Amino acid sequence: MNIMKFGGSSLADAESLRRAARIVAAKTQVPLVVVVSAMGGTTDRLVEITSAAAASDQVEATRLVEDLKKYHQTEAHLVIESDLQPQLEIFLETQFSDLYEAVVKLATLGSLTPQLSDEIASFGERLSSYVVTLMLRSKGVKTALLDSREVIVTDDQFTQASPILDATRRRLLDIVPQLHLENEVIVMGGFIAATENGDITTLGRGGSDFTASIVGASLAAAEIQIWTDVDGVMTADPSILPEARRLRVLSFSEASELAYFGARVLHPSTVIPAVDSDIPVRVLNSQKPDVEGTRIISKCPPSSVTVKSIAYKESITVVDIRSTRMLMAHGFLARIFEIFDRFGTAVDMISTSEVEVSLTIDRTDQLNEIVDELKKFSEVTHNAGQAIVCLVGDNLRYTPGIAARIFSAIQNVNIRMISQGASRRNVSFVIEESDLHTTISALHNVFFDKVDKEVFA
Ligand code: ADP
Ligand code: ASP
Ligand code: MG
Repeated sequence: MNIMKFGGSSLADAESLRRAARIVAAKTQVPLVVVVSAMGGTTDRLVEITSAAAASDQVEATRLVEDLKKYHQTEAHLVIESDLQPQLEIFLETQFSDLYEAVVKLATLGSLTPQLSDEIASFGERLSSYVVTLMLRSKGVKTALLDSREVIVTDDQFTQASPILDATRRRLLDIVPQLHLENEVIVMGGFIAATENGDITTLGRGGSDFTASIVGASLAAAEIQIWTDVDGVMTADPSILPEARRLRVLSFSEASELAYFGARVLHPSTVIPAVDSDIPVRVLNSQKPDVEGTRIISKCPPSSVTVKSIAYKESITVVDIRSTRMLMAHGFLARIFEIFDRFGTAVDMISTSEVEVSLTIDRTDQLNEIVDELKKFSEVTHNAGQAIVCLVGDNLRYTPGIAARIFSAIQNVNIRMISQGASRRNVSFVIEESDLHTTISALHNVFFDKVDKEVFA
């Protein structure tokens, strides 16, 4: 069995939907589970709807819901055969009336809970999975729809839920083989799930990749394919560096470091279930299905390549915390981390000196509260508009002199906080966001000017 996951940009309009259908119909391995994201920018639009409703702007929220409905009707209509159109219409009417009801509830209440936010966000994948199912049936592919909320079981950390893998595996193994008796393909929505009690949850933005690997690992798939809008995992984000090259092969550890440090092409948790079950992940371009993509496997063939790719994270805030005593007292770090933890704010990078700790965060919604607490025992300053740049490669561990090559390439850039990750598979540092492009471009020239053709395309 194989898993194919299609991202939102691969399902954004009738043309891309048809392309995805052709890829599924040309499958070489049945049975198949197809995991779909919400169409186009639907989740972003649902987030906007949620904000408008939470601000009690019902007029704006209603207008946005109507727009989203029209978008789904128009594109879906073009890819579904006439016999199935009435079924589509009824489905869209019911879903949009449910969405509208949730929006009115929120606008009236005026207070947004993470649970309600997940309920609204879930409509994207509920809609797309239904549309893709009817589209595949229109093409004569025997297709069943599986509601992810019935099989992906999570805890109740709404907006950022974690899967409960045993329960999920049990449910998938109960249902999927049954459905496959009569169907070649099973379609399910990524990103959305439910608690044991049936409350809707989501796995965090970009979480459909994670759904695909949870399903793949649970069902012992031969391969997990992530179909997206670029040729594979590249040496840098091609949207800011068009000359980026495709990696033919990457290790699980390299892929997780890249994802963790911002390479949006994979959700950071994607490789975890795949590693545990040793299932290869392949990243492919739905616009160019003949390009072989990037294979992500447990161990790459030996090569002398050190840096495989450069990732970055924007909108980072650096917080400097200076002990008000001469030296950092025993327990100073513990106190600091307890505060960040209490306010649910993850810390990415940290560096310390005798009297000062600097750290980076990307969520700042609780920053004022955190600073108030820290000020009880330290002096605090913070700077927004920073970025983390991270170079990744398994061989970095064994290669002396990399830091010199990195920092001599960007002598004119002001660098703060340098860290070699505990895994020693990455080197990361913080710069001003405005220096991001120059920095990545200069580093790319140094490390990817001449490349090993076995590793890079
Ligand atoms: P999808 O909708 O298919 O899930 P995403 O937008 O989540 O797609 O991820 C694909 C995007 O990831 C690409 O369009 C690209 O701009 C971005 N990206 C960032 N870093 C990388 C990288 N190293 N390699 C490939 N793509 C990257
Ligand atoms: N639709 C969700 C999002 O936009 C999940 C995903 O696309 O992976 O974040
Ligand atoms: Mg994605």
